[in-house]
Amino acid sequence: MSTLEDLPRDAEAAFAAVDNLPALDQAKARFLGKTGLITEQMKGLGKMDAEGRKAAGARINQIKDQVEASLKARREAIEAETLRRQLAAEALDVTLPGRGETMGGLHPVTRTLARIERMFASMGFEVADGPEIETDFYNFTALNIPDNHPARAMHDTFYLPGGHLLRTHTSPVQVHYMQRQQPPIKIIAPGRVYRCDSDVTHTPMFHQVEGLWVDETVSFADLKGVLADFMRHFFERDHMPVRFRPSFFPFTEPSAEMDIGCVICGGDGCRVCSHTGWLEVLGCGMVHPNVFGHVGYDAEKWQGFAFGLGVERLAMLRYGVDDLRLFFENDVRFLKQFA
Ligand SMILES: [Zn+2]
Repeated sequence: MSTLEDLPRDAEAAFAAVDNLPALDQAKARFLGKTGLITEQMKGLGKMDAEGRKAAGARINQIKDQVEASLKARREAIEAETLRRQLAAEALDVTLPGRGETMGGLHPVTRTLARIERMFASMGFEVADGPEIETDFYNFTALNIPDNHPARAMHDTFYLPGGHLLRTHTSPVQVHYMQRQQPPIKIIAPGRVYRCDSDVTHTPMFHQVEGLWVDETVSFADLKGVLADFMRHFFERDHMPVRFRPSFFPFTEPSAEMDIGCVICGGDGCRVCSHTGWLEVLGCGMVHPNVFGHVGYDAEKWQGFAFGLGVERLAMLRYGVDDLRLFFENDVRFLKQFA
C-alpha cells in the first residue's frame, strides 16, 4: 500500500508539471486511465480476502477522490491562466491615439484646371461651357475649316452616328457663346476634348482651355500681355522669357505658337525642351473674320484674340511628370503626391 499512499503527491506533482489541457489529459490517464496506477490498484483487490478488500477498496476510493480533486483544481488553474493570457494578448489600449483618417485630394488635372480658371478670372475672364458631343458645323465649319480642308486630317476625330462627333478642341464653345451673346466677350472655356490617338504624350481624352476676348480694340498686344502674364503666374516666375512664332490655324489670322523659356533647365537645354531651351505651350491668334461671319458679328467693328492650351501639358511641366498616361491610370500612389 506504500505506493498507493504516494499516489496523491505523485499525481499532484505530475499535474503541476504541465501547463496545458492536452498534457494534463495525458497525466490524468497515467493515474486514472484504464491502465492507470489507480486502476491497477483496483485490480489488485481481487487477490485479497473479503475483509482486506473492503478496507483497501475504501482507501483506494479516498485516494482516487484526492487525485480527482487535485486534477480538477489544476484544470481550473490552467483554464484560468489560458484565459488570462488570451485576454492579455487581445487587450485593446483604449488610451492609444487613433490611426487617423486618410485625406483624399483633388486630381492634379482638376487642381490645374481650377488654378487656370482662378488666374483668368482675376484678369476678368468668365468661364463658359459647351457640349462634348458636337456637330460638324460647330467643330469645323464655323471655325473656318470647310469640308475637305486639310486641317480636318490633323484632328483624329471620333465620329458618331447621325453626323455627330466628339469635339476635338474646345473652340466650338466660342461659336456657341458668340451666337448667344453680343460683344464685348471675355471668356475661357475649359473642358474635355477627344482625339483618336494614344502614346506617351497623347491620350484619347484630354483637357483644353479655350480663351476668347472680343471687343472693339483688342489687339495682338493684349494677346501677348494676357498670355505672358498668365504663364508667369502659372509657373510662379518673376521673369520668364516668352516668344511667339508665326503659325497657322484656320480660325485665327495671324496665328502664333507661344513658347516659354524651359521651366526644367532654365533655358540651358534639356531632354524635355529637346535641347532648344524653349517649350511650346499653346496656340493663339487674332480671330479670323470668317469666324465672326459665321456667328453674325461685324468683322469691321469687332476684333479679338483666341487661344487654346493643353491642361495636362501645363500640369506635366509644372509638376515634372514625364508620362501623360499617369494622369488617367488613377494609381493612388501617384495621385497621393498631389493631395
Ligand atoms: Zn529644357
